[in-house]
Amino acid sequence: MFSNIVVAVDGSEHAAHAIATACDIAGKYDSNIHLVHSPQVDTVGFAVGSGAYVLEPGPERIKAAGQKVMDEAAALSKKQGRAPKTTTIGNGDPAKEILNCAEANDADLIVMGRRGLGTMGNLFLGSVSGKVSHETTCACLTVK
Ligand code: ATP
Ligand code: MG
Repeated sequence: MFSNIVVAVDGSEHAAHAIATACDIAGKYDSNIHLVHSPQVDTVGFAVGSGAYVLEPGPERIKAAGQKVMDEAAALSKKQGRAPKTTTIGNGDPAKEILNCAEANDADLIVMGRRGLGTMGNLFLGSVSGKVSHETTCACLTVK
């Protein structure tokens, strides 16, 4: 039923739940797991911040942070018996990267957290999970 499952990760606890859920489903259907992450400047953190100056992290730092998030996600997936078939680190709008990854891997399911690293905890869905849910043409599961 589900041959290829894309799991979107951002390094949050929510995404860790998404990995656990996706691995559980993959165990039942013998599905491939595809991990996707697109590092964002605001979640990598600022190198130096003060009232007067804010230095954004450079491309190298963003790349390293993205790789770290992906390595941890892949390790979590492997620990749950499902080493990822592919890992994709994007560099653009996360929702677009997730949708592209789903298309590239012929996904029949996308699994995400309802929320991520954002701080607007009162909202039901975050901006990334909301956009993907609206735009995807395959099944989509947002986990709490
Ligand atoms: P917002 O970012 O809108 O302030 P939020 O961080 O709480 O709010 P989302 O960013 O939509 O909510 O995160 C929901 C889920 O979307 C995450 O659990 C993760 O599965 C996925 N996701 C979020 N950001 C990324 C990203 N940069 N790359 C890949 N997947 C992501
Ligand atoms: Mg977010």
